[in-house]
Amino acid sequence: MKTHTTCPYCGVGCGVVISQTPQGTFSVEGDPAHPANFGRLCVKGAALGETLGLEGRLLEPQINAQPVSWDDALDTAAQRLAAIIEEHGPGAVAFYASGQLLTEDYYAANKLMKGFIGSANIDTNSRLCMSSAVVGYKRAFGADVVPGNYEDIERSDMVVLVGSNAAWAHPVLYQRLVAAKAQRPGMKVVVIDPRATATCHIADLHLALKPGTDAALFNGLLNQLAACLPHDTFDGQQQALDAAKAWTLEESAAFCELNKEDVARFYDGFISADRAVTLYTMGINQSSSGSDKCNAIINVHLASGKYGREGCGPFSLTGQPNAMGGREVGGLANQLACHMGFTPEDITRLGRFWGSERIAQTPGLMAVELFDAIYRGEVKAVWIMGTNPAVSLPDSDRVREALRRCPLVIVSEISANSDTLEFAHIRFPAQAWGEKNGTVTNSERRISRQRAFMSAPGETRPDWWIIARLAQRLGYVQAFNWQHPSEVFREHARLSGFENEGERAFDISGLASLTREQWDALQPVQWPVTKNAPQGTARLLETGRGWHPSGRLKLIPVTVNLAQAQPDARYPLLLNTGRIRDQWHTMTRTGLVSRLMQHQSLPWVQIHPDDAAQLGVRDASLVRLSSAQGWALGYARITADQRPGDVFMPMHWNNHFASQGRVNALVASVVDPHSGQPESKQTAVRLQPLHARWRGALYSRSTLTLPASLMWWRQAAGLRLAAHTRDVTWLETLARQNHWQLQEARGETFIHLLAWQGAQLQLALYLSLYDTELDEPRIREGFTEPVSDPARRHQLLAGGGGQTPRGRTVCSCMGVSETAICEAITQGCDTPAALGKRLGCGTQCGSCVPELRGLIASSLAKTAN
Ligand code: SF4
Repeated sequence: MKTHTTCPYCGVGCGVVISQTPQGTFSVEGDPAHPANFGRLCVKGAALGETLGLEGRLLEPQINAQPVSWDDALDTAAQRLAAIIEEHGPGAVAFYASGQLLTEDYYAANKLMKGFIGSANIDTNSRLCMSSAVVGYKRAFGADVVPGNYEDIERSDMVVLVGSNAAWAHPVLYQRLVAAKAQRPGMKVVVIDPRATATCHIADLHLALKPGTDAALFNGLLNQLAACLPHDTFDGQQQALDAAKAWTLEESAAFCELNKEDVARFYDGFISADRAVTLYTMGINQSSSGSDKCNAIINVHLASGKYGREGCGPFSLTGQPNAMGGREVGGLANQLACHMGFTPEDITRLGRFWGSERIAQTPGLMAVELFDAIYRGEVKAVWIMGTNPAVSLPDSDRVREALRRCPLVIVSEISANSDTLEFAHIRFPAQAWGEKNGTVTNSERRISRQRAFMSAPGETRPDWWIIARLAQRLGYVQAFNWQHPSEVFREHARLSGFENEGERAFDISGLASLTREQWDALQPVQWPVTKNAPQGTARLLETGRGWHPSGRLKLIPVTVNLAQAQPDARYPLLLNTGRIRDQWHTMTRTGLVSRLMQHQSLPWVQIHPDDAAQLGVRDASLVRLSSAQGWALGYARITADQRPGDVFMPMHWNNHFASQGRVNALVASVVDPHSGQPESKQTAVRLQPLHARWRGALYSRSTLTLPASLMWWRQAAGLRLAAHTRDVTWLETLARQNHWQLQEARGETFIHLLAWQGAQLQLALYLSLYDTELDEPRIREGFTEPVSDPARRHQLLAGGGGQTPRGRTVCSCMGVSETAICEAITQGCDTPAALGKRLGCGTQCGSCVPELRGLIASSLAKTAN
């Protein structure tokens, strides 16, 4: 049996086909018919089948960490929320939702908060991802619309990627671009990014500009376009051109610290290209002037006429699977549902539609403001749905303190191991991907179905159900009386067309009368879907008219501002944060998949060789990064891909995967004044080598609480350790308490300890002053079967015994290690294709091909030397 559904990770929104075998297991393939991916999947999508187990799932409602019935959990939550609202008003409660929710879930949450509780305090983790892009679109077009689609990227003459490492963050879309460029080599690709990333491998031009200077670069381009732009084509035209006037080619190049010839190549290429698409994402959005940067990009597309037609457009990529769905339902605190705002007309319209007199009258608190208000005690109850703010929000230690102080924290989660869950008074077990039904919208406005293909475990429930049942307990029985998600979707679709004569871009009223069966069979479709466009709408702005009252599009004057944090003597480096190829968000799902942990299992800090030399940092050594907010640990990666003065650290690690790997502990809660999006890309930091003399590994049958003196990182098989001393008192105490027998080997430079309960290995610890080669697969085997043979026990004590460690995995799809790849290169496989033929690497999702090229280049360089 096959089920067609959608990948739950990034905003590309790939279609997935699930097949169930007679044995009841599931296989995952890309959906060849889905227009987002045409059968492709990246390594994360391909590994979805490995995330379906129940390990680490939250399976029952809990109050104060004790299992309770749904009735108890919902009654208690409703009573406590009602009491807080009664005493302190609706502004004292808040929801913090997620781009991982389905549209139906999101709609229900938004309706409850803004329509019935009467506050607009519902915001979402999408605030961290694309809220600046929303502001950019609304200011320019009068509506939050991505005008183009993925085909436009393939049909363009020039694709500009700004602040986007699409090769890792939007891999399937990047592979579509790679394939299009291979077919039409004349297509130019320009990457604008301070770092040289995997995305640069297909770039004709990489502009490694000074961080945060993007607006100057695009203002310079607008200035070049000014002469050919007919007078008064756009609203705000003269002001925008005036603001850009000072940005000559020389000024822009100097300000961005770029070579003038390279900038001229970019400008000339863009101006002369008939069709151009600019893809932008977190590198632009996550800035204290992110909205302005978005408009600087949109300005050049409008001024050059590269919008509203094939192969053209400013195109913001959403990070999350349903960030766009959240925008549609009004999941951001500064919007009402279905692209309505807080005008008196919209408020009364919504009141009429929902039959409520309690519609929120003013915008609510945006993510960072919201957690500040919780910290200060102004918001006294928060319901967090499907997201992990204790890891993902800036200044995350302060966010943790806010949650600790909050009188009522409710968390809806699928994972029992989310950092945020630790602060929850009430826990609702939600259904996971594969178990729930609904819709999501990807970066190109394409609505797709997520379909359940397995039964829901334990007491888990869909999010819309949890919200609706709680709303009914608050007294809103009729308004939340849905029995099926298709009913929620229909209501959402009806609202989108309600009193909408084209003033609101989001209109899916053409889907408002779908039966349950038709909704279930819904094929991917791009909104608007209306009576006049029943098959959806591939492209917007084709007539040149937007949604401002004047009907005209707007150029926005952009003043160039740098990041608020600038390096100084105390914090001399600028920290950039971002994603890695095989992990998703805070690792609560992908971190459980062994093969996804093989590529990069340790948090790392990328640093330029000059900075490393000055600071005395060796490659792969442990370093401590600190800022005015907090600190984190990582392993140094010294590379000229990084600009001098800048460092980069990935954002995924949480407290379940590292003792101190949360990079957001360092990031200041500075936000864009228009969008409220945090400046996660630029924080002033200090980097110091951390000389932990002892290092090693720990393998354990059960989860342990380790002493604070140990620094640890969870890897596929066990924990990697670092420590200043080799004190193992904690382990000896643990063994005594559990009646384990210890077997040990000690020397001046090492200590190895095994803890046995009879023939069962409970724990294996290896600490040394030097790097020890451990045979991990053999150690793992020691935990799977009783071991009585003294020789085998001795082998385990020595570090496993036998096999040569295979090195880290580069190709996660085919499980090919760096060791095997380097060996094949020395034997003459000097192209990715040759490696693919010999080892299979790079032949599936293709995400590792840039890395294969890098290994070939460095191996050939070594040989030449
Ligand atoms: Fe999933 Fe994104 Fe990968 Fe597609 S590109 S398979 S949506 S993670």
